Amino acid sequence: MQTYEPKPLPFQKDLIGISRRTMEIHHDKLYQGYVTKMNEIGQELGTFARGEKEPAGNQTYSALRALRAGETFATNGVYLHEYYFNGLGGDGRTIPDNALTQALTKTFGTMEQFIKYFSASGMAMRGWVVLAWDVQDQNLRVYGCDAHNQGGVWGCLPVIVLDVYEHAYFLDYGSDRAAYIADYWKNFNWDAANRLFEHINTFRLT
Ligand code: FE
Repeated sequence: MQTYEPKPLPFQKDLIGISRRTMEIHHDKLYQGYVTKMNEIGQELGTFARGEKEPAGNQTYSALRALRAGETFATNGVYLHEYYFNGLGGDGRTIPDNALTQALTKTFGTMEQFIKYFSASGMAMRGWVVLAWDVQDQNLRVYGCDAHNQGGVWGCLPVIVLDVYEHAYFLDYGSDRAAYIADYWKNFNWDAANRLFEHINTFRLT
C-alpha cells in the first residue's frame, strides 16, 4: 500500500475565535494521528491483499474484520479533517456571488437559510455536518455523522465540512458550540469551497 502523506494546514493566519493552540492540537496531533493509523492499517491490509497472509474472515472477530472497521474510521478521519481545514482561513463575513453560493441560494432559498439550516445540523450531530454534491441526483444535500465512518452516503462528494466534535472548540468556547459555529462562518473560505464545487459539480452518473 502506498503511504499517505499528511497535508499541511492550508492557511497561516490566526482565525477569529478559534485559537492557534486548538488548530495545532487539531491538525498536528489528531489529524496526523489519523494519517498514521490509516497508513498502519493500509500496510496490514496489504499483507492480506497480496496474499502474504491468509485472512480468516470471521464476522464476530477476526484480524481482517478489525482492520476493515478501522480502515474506514481512519480514512474518513483523514479526509473529513482535510475538507474541514480547507474551508477555514478565509474572510467569511463577506459572502461572494459565485457558482456555489448561487447553487445554495437556488437549493435553500437564501444563503441565510442555508447557513441557519447547516448550523442547526451542527448542533444536532455529534461529529460532522457535510454539504455534499450528490452525483446520483445532482443536488446539494446536507448530511450529518456521529462518527467518521457512520452517516456518510456513497456517491456524495463533500463541499463544506464542519467538525463539531468537542475537541474542535472546547478549549476556546467551553460548551458553547453555537458560538464556535458562528465563528466558523466568520472564518469560512468561500473561494476554496467554490473551487471545490466547480471542480466536482460536473461529475454526473447519468
Ligand atoms: Fe476533529
